[in-house]
Amino acid sequence: MAAKLIKGTEIREEILEEIASEVSEIKEKKGVVPGLVTILVGENPASISYVTLKIKTANRLGFKEIQDNQPADIPEQDLLALIDKYNKDDSIHGILVQLPLPKHVDEKKVLNAIDPDKDVDGFHPVNVGRLMIGGSEVKYPPCTPAGIQELIVRSGVETKGAEVVVVGRSNIVGKPIANMMLQKGPGANSTVTVVHTSTKDMASHCQRADILIVAAGVPGLVKPEWIKPGACVIDVGVNRVGEKISEKTGQKVAILKGDVDFDAAKEIAGWITPVPGGVGPMTITMLMQNTLKALKFKLGIA
Ligand code: NAP
Repeated sequence: MAAKLIKGTEIREEILEEIASEVSEIKEKKGVVPGLVTILVGENPASISYVTLKIKTANRLGFKEIQDNQPADIPEQDLLALIDKYNKDDSIHGILVQLPLPKHVDEKKVLNAIDPDKDVDGFHPVNVGRLMIGGSEVKYPPCTPAGIQELIVRSGVETKGAEVVVVGRSNIVGKPIANMMLQKGPGANSTVTVVHTSTKDMASHCQRADILIVAAGVPGLVKPEWIKPGACVIDVGVNRVGEKISEKTGQKVAILKGDVDFDAAKEIAGWITPVPGGVGPMTITMLMQNTLKALKFKLGIA
């Protein structure tokens, strides 16, 4: 294998240790800890397992964690009132509404009701705007793109002047990471191209990339011959391609594949993320980072 493996699981541990030590220092000096509330509506199994992991991580870091479960038929007005309650609660610094929401609820309305200063997911239009402006305006970069940038920077990949090609233009991954990489500043300062389903010649764009970030949700979309030798390849895709029996638990588990043909790509790239174990572990980590930031903003020490 030519490429260095970018292990999200290891980088996650590094960042969580940094967060835990900051939390205990702030607790000692100021007597407060970051407070995070997660609102889960209904019983979507994927949401439940994601939320469970968030709670576990928050507890490990010494956060105050509130898990607020609501029935699937909660009226929209009641959900908005709940958000208002947490907006006003001084011990809560971050509010997270687990998506997707049931169909009778207007997702946009709910997300926009969160106080932008407590929007640790970074999806509120105010925070999207702050991200666009860049520099010291940025409060909460959205978690998956923030995790991608950490993986690149902590792996020692040069971003200044690098050709970055992003495959995908979603609001949660493609657009924000493209915007973050073009900002003037450390860990960015790149020349960015975004490709999507209307792009004419995907291969020729990808072949130019010093850093190739792929977030399309199409297994094996990026072919090995699209990868520039020595490039850094970040595979965000998580695609369920089948099931297997876990050797550890004896239970059925999903077989996950990324958007890049990993086995072939690892022989050409300079760095590459695996799926699973690459970008995946970073999202919750960056949520914790944003929640700590929210407390620091409030204390005036950010
Ligand atoms: P999305 O909202 O479905 O957006 C996919 C984007 O990829 C769209 O912009 C689409 O183009 C583009 N695309 C799809 N097929 C393409 C093709 N054949 N050629 C070129 N572009 C193509 O997906 P998303 O939410 O960004 O997620 C993308 C992947 O990342 C998914 O596998 C998801 O599970 C994964 N993901 C992982 C994490 C994590 O690990 N923590 C977090 C978020 C997402 P158009 O705009 O033209 O339709």
